[in-house]
Amino acid sequence: MRRPLIVGNWKMHGLTAQLANIQALASALKAHPAHADVLVCPPFTLIERAVRVAGDLVSIGAQNCHHETSGARTGEVSAQMLSDSGATAVIVGHSERRQQHGETSAVVAAKAHAAAGAGLLAIVCIGETQAQRAAGQALSLCSEQLAQSLPEEIAASACAIGYEPLWAIGSGQVPTSDQITEMHGHIRQCLVTRMGAGGHDVPVVYGGSVTSANARSLLALSQVGGVLVGGASLNPAEFETIVRSAAP
Ligand code: PEP
Repeated sequence: MRRPLIVGNWKMHGLTAQLANIQALASALKAHPAHADVLVCPPFTLIERAVRVAGDLVSIGAQNCHHETSGARTGEVSAQMLSDSGATAVIVGHSERRQQHGETSAVVAAKAHAAAGAGLLAIVCIGETQAQRAAGQALSLCSEQLAQSLPEEIAASACAIGYEPLWAIGSGQVPTSDQITEMHGHIRQCLVTRMGAGGHDVPVVYGGSVTSANARSLLALSQVGGVLVGGASLNPAEFETIVRSAAP
């Protein structure tokens, strides 16, 4: 069984001073290793310097990429550029990008394809709104998003899925264990149907109001392969506690 994947998504937070948080986490993990793979996704501006302080026990990823390798795309950053900066992963299709930047699942699939082509792990995010869940559409919505957001030929080793119900992000609300187990089981089934046995190897991580108080119980759910942490990843002590919540 693979170790849980704990991802910190710093969003649009973090200046030079916060590199010390990554360095401190790396030192703490060296002194007392955790039972998890740890990935921190700071803003683009910190990636290269974060890689230098992160050591071997903390990987550095990005929060977005463009689907093209290069070109007249002012302000954009390609997957190849991220890889060149030392990143090993990129989050694609986060709900904030889908909602605030109009990213469709087709665009997300193109980004995931570019990420995999650049040798990055593509963490593909999906998730339903509160209204969709209330209407009984959560499972069908997520399988549709998954089908359309994963590029056809992507290898199981090149992707992870982030299940992030929109109503749980930054709200303090977390789905029940039964809801998470049901959704993660459903996502797993979709992955296996699509990829065959390889679908069992794709990490499916939960995201939405994960804190040091609920991480242990979330990570104990058999279908949960890790957590994606937004707000709580900005607090070094809180994030380290979440990382250490993964059982041996
Ligand atoms: C996120 O935005 O990916 C996220 C999970 O945020 P939070 O942990 O703050 O809910």
